[in-house]
Amino acid sequence: MTEAETIVITDPDSDRYHTFGYISWWQQEVVRNATVLVIGAGALGNEVIKNLTLMGIGNLLIADFDTIEDSNLSRSVLFRAGDRGRRKVDAAAEAAKAINPDVKVKAWHGDINFEMGLGVFRHVDAIIGCLDNREARLSINRFSWAVDRPWVDGAIQELMGIVRVFRPGEGACYECTLTDLDYQIINLRYSCPLLARQDILMGKVPTTPTSASIVAAFQTQEALKLLHDMEVQPGKALMINGLTNDIYITEYPVKEFCMSHSRLEPIVELPEATAEGTTLAGLLATARERLGPEAVLEFDSELVVSMDCGACGQNEPIFQRMARLYEDAAVCPNCGAKREMRLTHRISGEEEFLDRTLAGVDVPPLGIIRARNGGERVYYELTGDKATFLQFA
Ligand SMILES: [Zn+2]
Ligand SMILES: [Zn+2]
Repeated sequence: MTEAETIVITDPDSDRYHTFGYISWWQQEVVRNATVLVIGAGALGNEVIKNLTLMGIGNLLIADFDTIEDSNLSRSVLFRAGDRGRRKVDAAAEAAKAINPDVKVKAWHGDINFEMGLGVFRHVDAIIGCLDNREARLSINRFSWAVDRPWVDGAIQELMGIVRVFRPGEGACYECTLTDLDYQIINLRYSCPLLARQDILMGKVPTTPTSASIVAAFQTQEALKLLHDMEVQPGKALMINGLTNDIYITEYPVKEFCMSHSRLEPIVELPEATAEGTTLAGLLATARERLGPEAVLEFDSELVVSMDCGACGQNEPIFQRMARLYEDAAVCPNCGAKREMRLTHRISGEEEFLDRTLAGVDVPPLGIIRARNGGERVYYELTGDKATFLQFA
């Protein structure tokens, strides 16, 4: 018997994980030391969180932007009638602690597409996507590839389910599976420069608590295999047809020119840097020490520096990424005219706002910022945020 196969017998009265010890490959240490990010605390997320909690997962980071409505109560094991109106992450985190106080939880309320630092993905062992829309799946897929982390996707509709493991560099990724029609649907929603985010939230999917628990159970199992370094099948889909009880596996072809297949290299951790404490000038200086005096900082998305009103002449500093603004932000509060946005995505050292912190230009905690001089690039992570952001209780 190898060490991994050793059966650890503990006292069933004092060890709630006692029976897991009889599973040949199970290592409670591995489960206890793992940090798992669950994105989405809806029907699937509830079941995944419940499963991870029962297994005694060490650290659980729950991300969602939504609040609880009555319609959630028919398929969300962690929510109670009295939770109506609460943030899903708070109710889910509380319920997880009640099920198993050993589990350390952090609830994060926000929009995964634009508000979570990319470095967060680097510092978790696995990501489980419990989502109902293509946009968020595509974001998770790109983030996971960028920092080389595996993720497990689940999807449900009526009695149908799909479970997929995606691991950078092995087989197809989520974006490889997208068809022209998928892109059309995504682009339709993003066609307005100031994204109407409400639209994305409308995708209410008809499903049952049974489908959610079946798919979430497979997702959790796949995540468990990833944590134990066991064999998984990246780039393949487990298709579950609950009407005919057919379960089968299909494999996706890898797209040669898939937009998701780019990794950030090299990522340099800055243990002292934080979103709230580091200024643009400070980060630029760090970049220039390494890359030379011509180095610039670059953001992946446009930063709205100000809104300028041509009609009444009023200028308002904004310093938020365009993707996070709602359409009505363009309306001048002074005269009601439509304002022009002053945009930037590059910090060259000439800006009048270099003393702003990174948080002051809408970079989230544990964000990763690109520094570039010609063809040479470095990705700086605000690693100083790790201790505060990834704090589990
Ligand atoms: Zn791909
Ligand atoms: Zn105006």
